[in-house]
Order: sequence, then C-alpha cells, then structure tokens
Amino acid sequence: MKKPFLTLAQAREIKKTYPTPFHIYDEAGIRRTARALNAAFAWNMGFREYFAVKATPNPAILKILREEGCGVDCSSLTELMMSDRCGFSGHEIMFSSNETPAEEFELADRLGAIINLDDLTHVDFLYKTLGHVPETVCCRFNPGGTFTLGESKEGFQVMDNPGQAKYGMTPDQLIEAFRKLKALGAKRFGIHAFLASNTLSNDYYPALARILFQTAADAAERTGCQIAFINLSGGVGVPYRPEQPANDIAAIGEGVRRAFEEVMVPVGLGETAIFTELGRFMLAPNGHLVTTAVHEKHIWKEYIGVDACAANLMRPAIYGAYHHITVLGKEDAPCDHVYDVVGSLCENSDKFAVDRPLPKIDMGDVLVIHDAGAHGFSMGYNYNGKLRSAELLLKEDGSVELIRRAETPDDYFATLIW
Ligand SMILES: *Cc1c(COP(=O)(O)O)cnc(C)c1O
Repeated sequence: MKKPFLTLAQAREIKKTYPTPFHIYDEAGIRRTARALNAAFAWNMGFREYFAVKATPNPAILKILREEGCGVDCSSLTELMMSDRCGFSGHEIMFSSNETPAEEFELADRLGAIINLDDLTHVDFLYKTLGHVPETVCCRFNPGGTFTLGESKEGFQVMDNPGQAKYGMTPDQLIEAFRKLKALGAKRFGIHAFLASNTLSNDYYPALARILFQTAADAAERTGCQIAFINLSGGVGVPYRPEQPANDIAAIGEGVRRAFEEVMVPVGLGETAIFTELGRFMLAPNGHLVTTAVHEKHIWKEYIGVDACAANLMRPAIYGAYHHITVLGKEDAPCDHVYDVVGSLCENSDKFAVDRPLPKIDMGDVLVIHDAGAHGFSMGYNYNGKLRSAELLLKEDGSVELIRRAETPDDYFATLIW
C-alpha cells in the first residue's frame, strides 16, 4: 500500500496557515533517495547524479540535493539561472538541452557547465556562438529503432521508440561530432542517451549502459578521444500504482557495475565516470499534492470536486496517468465507493481519478494525491486563470516551511498590458 508521509493531524495544522491546494515535499525522503542512489553507484569513482531541474525547479529542493552531493541537469535559461543562484557551478551543472538558443549556450559556458550537444549541427553552432568549444563536452546519442526489455506474454516490460524521438545523434554523427570537437580543441568527452521514460525494471539502466559503453569503446578507438564520462540520463521510473513493484536502485547500480566490468574495464576505460540525470526517481514519491473535497455531485456517475485541478498536476489530464489517492484519516477504511475525483477546469479531462474505489468521502476531507513531487507543480499552467499553488517543505524535524508562495491575481495580471 502507498502510505502518505503526512497525517491528517499534520495536514489540518498546515491548512490553518497554507490553504489547500498545495504541493508538499518530504525532506527526509529526498535525502534517503539521494543516499540510496549514491550508495548504489559508490563503486564508480566519479559518479554523480545531476538532478533534472525541470522535474521540481525549487531552490529549497536543489539545495537539499546539493548537500547530498548532487549536481543539476538544466535545459533552459531560467533553470541555469536558478542553479547558479543556488550555488551550483562548473561541472556541477549539466546542460542537456535541445533546439538550444545561442544565449543559453553562452550562459552555460559562462557558468562552466558541461554542455551536452543534441545534434551534429550544434558543434558548429556552439563554436560560432562561443568562439571556442569547451574542453569537456558531451554528445547525445540516439541508436534509432525501438528499445525493448523483458518480453513476456503481457508484452514488453519496457518499450520505447528512440527512432521516433527528436533527440540525439546517429552513431555515425556521434563519431563525426567527436572528431570535429576534438579538432576544435575539446579534450574530454561524454556520451549521453535517454532511451525510455519511467521504466519499471532493474534492467533498463544496465541495458542502456551496455549500449553506451560499447559506443564509447568504439568512439575511443576510432577517434582517439578521451572518454571521461557516460551519462545514463533519466528514465528510472516509480510505481505510480500501488500494485507495481518499485525499482531496486542497489540492483540497478550493481547491474551497471557488471556491464562496466565487462565492457569498459577490458578496453582501458575503467576510469570513466558514470553520471545520471534522474528527476522522477528522486522526487516523485517525495511529493504530495494536497487538496480538499469541496463538492459532491450525483448524476450518471459519482463525482467528488476538489480544490486542486489539472493546472496543479497535469499528468492525469494529458497522459491519462494514474496517481494514487489517499483520503487522510481514512487510510484503513474500506474502499467501498467509486468516484471520479475532479478539478474545476472547464475541461472534461480534468480528472485526478476515474472510477476509483475509495472510502466514502465527506466534504472537507483532505486528499493526498501521491507521486506528485516530479513533473507535478513544474508542469503547472494558468489555464482558466487558475493560479499556481504554494509549495511547502516538510523538514526532517517535522516543521513545515513555505518554499514558494501561492500565486495571487496580481501575479496573473502582471504581464498584461491593459
Ligand atoms: C526529463 C529529463 C530527465 C529526467 O527524466 P526523469 O524521467 O524525470 O528521470 C533527464 N535528462 C533529460 C535530458 C531530460 O530531458
């Protein structure tokens, strides 16, 4: 069962100061997750997690992760600016962007970030923009085709479509990019790929690692470039449904270690660092969207209207994504009612849950929407003039800190020319 990190008593106390809806993050959980990841890859000397800022762009979160030894993975101007202000610098910043504006390459270079090039044409673009190429540089790889793992009667455990993805370079382009970059003065090279999203399999990272290790060995041999790191990017998922098994990060780290011993060590690449850019795995389970039941409606179906909406958490509306819901104080009550739990947008897709068995919900009940800590608040938007909620941090000592205030109408109107 999925257990909230918040009790009804805590939620009631918090609501007195910060009305629902709000996002709240669990500092202890974030630190635990970061430590488990770092332990799983402790065998690799240069290991570093670059937290994907787009998942949860908040300085308080970034600072916690920095204390745990993480860097940041940025993909836009404001993510770079936020990371800079949070104290990240130099190689603590990975810049993995695509369709990149020149000014973003300029800022990334000024901060000393590791730039991850999405395309062969970006080599010339970068050189023209900066007048040089950085000594350490990364290229994003796309092997094409489909990527599958673990075939069974029910289908594949993991399936995604790199051949249809806009990212990265083909194998030949990667070699050409390395040669060009080397000729322009680059000295240390990395290879990056993101082949499948939200995977629930301890085999994804090891399989990806094997592909990238072989690509690295080939590139090192053909170009003479020094391979400094392999960036496994994001994609290690979380079980949004209570019946799904969680990934075992220790087993994942061990699987990557085995591939490393088999492929990298024999070709003299045993000093190569492993990087990750996890977002969802680090934060999703460590964040709740907390909302209050404010209306009930009995028509052709049973509806519970809550004070949050898709503008606070868009994944159910756009992906049909499942997010587990706990009615606080009714954790042990039988789920003998079936509801659609809906927000207030004038959009019928604004449903946090459809046909969901839940305990009987009374008006004023507080609901926790689970696994909202990554790609939750950050995907929010202002449709229907809805205002973004506050973000709170449940600290290790049990106190609660406001880490982003809720928007006001003045914020919403601030960019208008009347
Ligand atoms: C989104 C993204 C990530 C993080 O993905 P998760 O699924 O949250 O782990 C990492 N790297 C890049 C380049 C991304 O675009």
